[in-house]
Amino acid sequence: MRKLKYDTTLEIHSKNLISNLNYFRSQLLPTTKIMGMVKAYGYGLGPFGVAKLLEENGVNYLGVANILEGVELRKVGIKLPIMIMKPELESFDLIIEHKLSPVIFSFYSFRSLLKALKKHPKKIDSFQINIKIDTGMHRLGFSPNEIPDLLLALKKAPQIKVEGVFSHLAASDEKNHDDFTKLQIIRFKEVISEMEKTIHYRFDKHILNSNGALRFPDAQFDMVRLGIGLYGFVSESKHTKHIKNVAVLKTKIAQLKTIPKGDSIGYGRKGKATKQLTIATVPLGYADGISRRIGNGNWKVKLHNKFAPTVGSVCMDMCMIDVTGIECKEDDEIYFFYNQDSTKQLSSVLQTIPYEILSSISPRVKRVFI
Ligand SMILES: *Cc1c(COP(=O)(O)O)cnc(C)c1O
Repeated sequence: MRKLKYDTTLEIHSKNLISNLNYFRSQLLPTTKIMGMVKAYGYGLGPFGVAKLLEENGVNYLGVANILEGVELRKVGIKLPIMIMKPELESFDLIIEHKLSPVIFSFYSFRSLLKALKKHPKKIDSFQINIKIDTGMHRLGFSPNEIPDLLLALKKAPQIKVEGVFSHLAASDEKNHDDFTKLQIIRFKEVISEMEKTIHYRFDKHILNSNGALRFPDAQFDMVRLGIGLYGFVSESKHTKHIKNVAVLKTKIAQLKTIPKGDSIGYGRKGKATKQLTIATVPLGYADGISRRIGNGNWKVKLHNKFAPTVGSVCMDMCMIDVTGIECKEDDEIYFFYNQDSTKQLSSVLQTIPYEILSSISPRVKRVFI
């Protein structure tokens, strides 16, 4: 299986990913640590490959969403610290066993952790947590007015050590919300100084994601948490030219057909040959994570440097492309997206963002690291 050449692949250009990492480094203070976000299957690029690359290239930390993602990274031998953004309440034993770093974001999650530590067969004298503060994103985290109670709770649990305190920006990439971003940073600083009054050892502070790191470098504190920027997408035009494309989605022509004028193509007979057509059937369908909404001419793929529209509805495992007039043969390559612009265009056709395009590519699409 390993040697098999797959038709439909998501190519990951490792060199470009590392180049992006190094571009971020060039924009940050040398002392600033980097957390590589590899949640959601490594933003769809395949978590193990991406995590390995980041580990080999000196990233300090990895971040994932849930316990499953964390345990899987440990099972393939990732040694870096791994932060679990939303640990399941019942998962603290696994967290202890796999040396993962939980985020505590509410009193309920804090109490669950304390219970799990108490019940643990081995006595645990010291356990590190990361505390999430809600400075305005309003997703997870302690609100600033809960900090006094949190500090009391920490005081009562001396076995708990705070490894880091962090927050998340709601609109780091949007200029029209820059005042709000600055307000979040101010609130974060206030929470930090309040916490430092009773926590007398050093802990990491961080608030910036990819676009935050490029747009608000004064707020880099001890670490930045980089996701989408590593994988090829940043908002600011002065940085885009330095950020290289990482992901390419391609497949191969399974069959070419000549369709006589008047015939229909695909399910529901949605495709119509208004003249004689040459169509290419390719093994990529909505179960591969490419929306059905790109059917019926709503997206053009690239082949031989020409562009050809989809024709008919996208099937579960396949779709059809109108390649009339384009010189091509069976087994030729077809690109669904191949650079940042094409991925962004596809996002806008689907009224979404590159994050969703990449993370939707389903696991059966073979990830190929180049
Ligand atoms: C996903 C995530 C990030 C990374 O955001 P990007 O915009 O992809 O850089 C950072 N912090 C947290 C808490 C996240 O969930």
